[in-house]
Amino acid sequence: MVDWTSKNNDGSHGHAPGIPARVTAVEASWRSLSRQPQIDALATFQREIRDLGSAAQQAGYVQLAELLGMVDLMLAPVLAEEDAFTAELSEIIQDYLAAACRLAREQPAQAVVPGPALPDERDVPVVLLLEPDWRLGQNLQRQIAHFSYDVRLAADFSGLLKALEQLGRLPLAIVISGDLAMQAPNQVAHLRQRLDARVPLICLGAPGDVESRLVAARAGVDIYLARPFDLHELIDQLDRIGIDNKQEPFHIVVVEDSPTQAAYYSAILEKAGMLTTVVSHPHRVLDVLDENAADLILMDMYMPGCNGMELAKVIRQVPRHASIPIVYLSAVTEVSRQLDALSLGADDFLTKPIDPMHLIRSVSIRAERARSLRTLMLTDNLTGLLNHSRIKELLQTEVARALRSGMPLAFAMLDIDHFKSVNDTHGHHVGDRVIKTLARVLQQRLRQTDYIGRYGGEEFAVILPDASLEAGVRILDEIRQTFYKVHQLAPTGVFNVSFSAGVAAFPMSGDATQLALDADKALYAAKRQGRNCVVAYSPSLG
Ligand code: GH3
Ligand code: MG
Ligand code: MG
Ligand code: MG
Repeated sequence: MVDWTSKNNDGSHGHAPGIPARVTAVEASWRSLSRQPQIDALATFQREIRDLGSAAQQAGYVQLAELLGMVDLMLAPVLAEEDAFTAELSEIIQDYLAAACRLAREQPAQAVVPGPALPDERDVPVVLLLEPDWRLGQNLQRQIAHFSYDVRLAADFSGLLKALEQLGRLPLAIVISGDLAMQAPNQVAHLRQRLDARVPLICLGAPGDVESRLVAARAGVDIYLARPFDLHELIDQLDRIGIDNKQEPFHIVVVEDSPTQAAYYSAILEKAGMLTTVVSHPHRVLDVLDENAADLILMDMYMPGCNGMELAKVIRQVPRHASIPIVYLSAVTEVSRQLDALSLGADDFLTKPIDPMHLIRSVSIRAERARSLRTLMLTDNLTGLLNHSRIKELLQTEVARALRSGMPLAFAMLDIDHFKSVNDTHGHHVGDRVIKTLARVLQQRLRQTDYIGRYGGEEFAVILPDASLEAGVRILDEIRQTFYKVHQLAPTGVFNVSFSAGVAAFPMSGDATQLALDADKALYAAKRQGRNCVVAYSPSLG
């Protein structure tokens, strides 16, 4: 038995007397226990680990508590007699407890108060704006609000803190006027400390001034935009933060015959925010991949009946799965075996026992890369919208779905008005910005279930499932008005741009090809009517 009453004699901090000593004792007790493991003793040990874990949590040793939780988890299948107690498991636990000893000697982090949840994507994201010049502030507030951000204005730090408190959830970002940041870097630093680490501070500062950038960075500013700043640059930043917050978690398929290890890997990955599906019988893997798109496969090298390399070959034969990265897990350290696996299409080889941080990093880097490659193939470079062929393909599937469900579907084509003269007057670069702005307005005004594509040049296409012709026209017209209000910026001044749109709907237009033709006819009717308007298709348009 472990003597929990032993004194805290390791000279550690007074925060939690006894925790470091208790961890040391538990580690020693594992060493003797694992030599002759008996189920009763293991069960007692698991209870001790749990008690210690919750004590550690309360004392602010957050990481330590997590680590002990992992050990608890690894023991569970053995205690439930689902899995054998192996030398490998014993060693992994030993490693964990050694790491726990190291962690316990470090100062516990300050007790973590769970922050409010990240903004829900159904809510309009809030941006807090700190600008002492009220007129400037209001102007900026209006401009940012066009891009569907809810902007709250504050004139000083105490006003900002009050706004933050009243909000009751996390803002998407905080934007600070540069002059203020220079005058009161301490206040900025104070704000940074009080603020959830996930909320970035954006500073609108002086141009090309290294000194200001340094002061801002030291105070904890995350993003520095130099004046005269481009509104679009700020919106780009805000959009990017929103996309990062919203990104779907990675789905990792863990192919592993040992329930203990499978539970262990899956717990590590889920703690890091990923979703996992465990496959313990190799022949089930194709079914699982068919049901749910996977971002990455974590593959055990040795399983009864087949090995990981053989299974990878089978997976690679299915074209749809050919690009899913595979990371092998194995206790094998011989280089030649690893090379064999790599030559058969493995993306990485991790050797057991695996350091959790290493596992998380390796898996997320590869999953991220695979995902962005896939996105690249389906999207337009400039805007990130779906490309021409993808949107046409989706129109086909959505029409088929509408036919089955008996629901309507609207299809709209948009074309920017007099775009040639935008390019001619302000240059191609400014023209590109206008295209991006329209893309962004569309993304923010439409539903998650709608599809937006760049059809080509300054033309866009939008699929609105479940929307009638009238609803489609109403939605597009609202977007038209919003877009026309946006102040497009050019070196020579501010200007406005409009678009025209034509809308057709299923079932009136009977299939995907007809929808595209009819929407195009309506678009040209809108151009003829003088532009900056939305026209519904009707057979009388000819
Ligand atoms: P309308 O109101 O009749 O649509 O007039 P328009 O000037 O918009 O129409 P037109 O089709 O004559 O001109 C489209 C212009 O769009 C011509 C082309 O150079 C420009 N364009 C196409 N793709 C891009 C792009 O990716 N970036 C920029 N900056 N310009 C583009
Ligand atoms: Mg195995
Ligand atoms: Mg055109
Ligand atoms: Mg045009």
